[in-house]
Amino acid sequence: MMYRSYFILILFSLSLSAQQTLIHCGNIFDAPSGKLLQEKTLVVEGERIIAVTDGFRMPKSDQKVVDLSQQTVLPGLIDMHVHIEHESNSESYRKRFVDNEADIAFESVVFAQRTLNAGFTTVRDLGGTGVNVALRNAINAGKVQGPRIYTAEKSLASTGGHADPTNGMRRNLAGNPGPKEGVVNSIEDAFKAVRQRYKNGADCIKITATGGVLSVAKNGQNPQFTTSEIRAIVQTANDYGMHVAAHAHGDEGMYRAVSAGVKTIEHGTLMQERTMDLMIEKQAYLVPTITAGKQVAEKAAIPGYFPAVIVPKALAIGPQIQKTFAKAYKRGVPIAFGTDAGVFPHGLNAKEFAYMVEAGMPASVALQTATVVNAKLLKQENHLGQLNKGFYADIIAVEGNPLSSIETMENVVFVMKNGKVVKN
Ligand SMILES: [Zn+2]
Repeated sequence: MMYRSYFILILFSLSLSAQQTLIHCGNIFDAPSGKLLQEKTLVVEGERIIAVTDGFRMPKSDQKVVDLSQQTVLPGLIDMHVHIEHESNSESYRKRFVDNEADIAFESVVFAQRTLNAGFTTVRDLGGTGVNVALRNAINAGKVQGPRIYTAEKSLASTGGHADPTNGMRRNLAGNPGPKEGVVNSIEDAFKAVRQRYKNGADCIKITATGGVLSVAKNGQNPQFTTSEIRAIVQTANDYGMHVAAHAHGDEGMYRAVSAGVKTIEHGTLMQERTMDLMIEKQAYLVPTITAGKQVAEKAAIPGYFPAVIVPKALAIGPQIQKTFAKAYKRGVPIAFGTDAGVFPHGLNAKEFAYMVEAGMPASVALQTATVVNAKLLKQENHLGQLNKGFYADIIAVEGNPLSSIETMENVVFVMKNGKVVKN
């Protein structure tokens, strides 16, 4: 018996070491420097890159080759703001009342696959029902395909705030949601709500620091937490190794959020210079979501697409996001890449690159935000966001040169995640 198990063990380790793939890269994006290098071979074994060599290395008999000698190869992209459970359409508000968790779960699998096929091998999910936790676990276990997910589970809001799950509902349906459901109205509630998210399996915390566009409520920019409530949320989150992301359109709410220690400001639409300077000082990041702003403004022009209370908010806030991004970037505010996919169809995440470049950011810097910058924010700077020895084999390819034509990022032709080819 002993001999037999040794034999099986030896066979097993032989078969593991035999699984090597050589990827011939015509151009390769060196994310730390932002430069394109030419003619390299990536050696992939298991889920990691084990070597990067010059030129196109010829395979040994047991090595496979992926020929990307005519393409540009980049690290798998990271989107810091998606809602993987949902996709906004004219039915969204009705669906809140009729969909069960199982309906949401089946749909989210489709969205996850589409996101991965678009070259986004990692996402941060900033709020859903909690199905996002189960989806993350199923993807990690290899049961379904999708990006690596870092999830906030359910967003935290104050009563009537942007992420109060019962906004717009008849009173007997709305009930009285509290910290368990993500509704916070005191410092005590803040402790409970964050600890509940930790218990539910969240990786980070999301708050809605101001009103928002798509909630059934009048004000899209008012502050919706006190500074001390946000501070209690941040300190509790930090105790559990989680950072805090804050949705914010109005300046007062985002100023409070940055003062209280949140790591990322989502949208940042009406950000004033005092908040930009505070973000630079505290090294907080703006996650622009320009794509969402543009798409929401476009849909608001279709009669009946959104409930009436949402239309003026969408028309005012949507187009402003790109302008504020341009100003913040120029002033030196740290920028992370994030789109708010789900507000627009999943899989179109890469549109954001062209909007960033259009607003004055060089293509190489935009690509760095979606790779090395986001990897660092997720504390994965030694595992994700680069094509170097020891990193996860999350590898994508596009035609042409993204530094001279950034739109090519919208047509990803090859995707490998964790050393496995997903799309070729
Ligand atoms: Zn969002």
